[in-house]
Amino acid sequence: MDYKRILVLGTHNKKKGVELAELLEPYGFALRTLADVSHAIEVEETGTTFAENARLKATVQAKHLNCWVLGEDSGLSVDALDGGPGVYSARYSGANATDESNNAKLLAKLAELPLERRTAHYTCHAVLSDPLGVVRAEAEDYCRGRILFERSGSGGFGYDPLFEIPEYHRTFGELGSSVKTVLSHRSRAMRAIIPQIVLLGASDVWDATQGSN
Ligand code: IMP
Repeated sequence: MDYKRILVLGTHNKKKGVELAELLEPYGFALRTLADVSHAIEVEETGTTFAENARLKATVQAKHLNCWVLGEDSGLSVDALDGGPGVYSARYSGANATDESNNAKLLAKLAELPLERRTAHYTCHAVLSDPLGVVRAEAEDYCRGRILFERSGSGGFGYDPLFEIPEYHRTFGELGSSVKTVLSHRSRAMRAIIPQIVLLGASDVWDATQGSN
């Protein structure tokens, strides 16, 4: 039997899905997005931490689809906002928030702050769930930077045009995907979880029939 490792990326965010696929493709997984599988659900993010939400996104979707799902929850934490917007990063400016409106709200909130007080970090918590909804691998990592006074660059997504990597004097919006692939919270979390996933791949827990939809 072919134990090709079919993995569903448990996100509805297309740009995030592209980043995850780029990071995972070299390891020979047969990747599917939620758009590729029928009947994917929108998992409610009711947790108060990145870890809780990532576990929900992975395990609830995995049980629902009866396949292996890699879920992640990520967001921006600004020190001067006591870690906000944090788990509310996607919906920071309200129910109909867009990247543009979120960035505008963040700039307004930090308007009076000098550069040295605009420190922030991204967090990514990644979780692999098996088809029964059992967490089989988990990792969290971070990327430190600071929030500039205006947008710069059009790469990435979310807060990337405002998020400067101090060592590079450039935002993720300017740096492009090759640099983000090395430095980002998502790439670091993936580098931490991939060895755990590969080890699972060595056993017979991966079934070619699961997740093929
Ligand atoms: P989630 O889809 O609930 O995990 O929300 C993630 C939100 O955090 C996104 O909508 C962005 O606002 C923000 N975010 C997470 N990762 C990134 C990133 O790599 N760049 C920019 N913004 C990010």
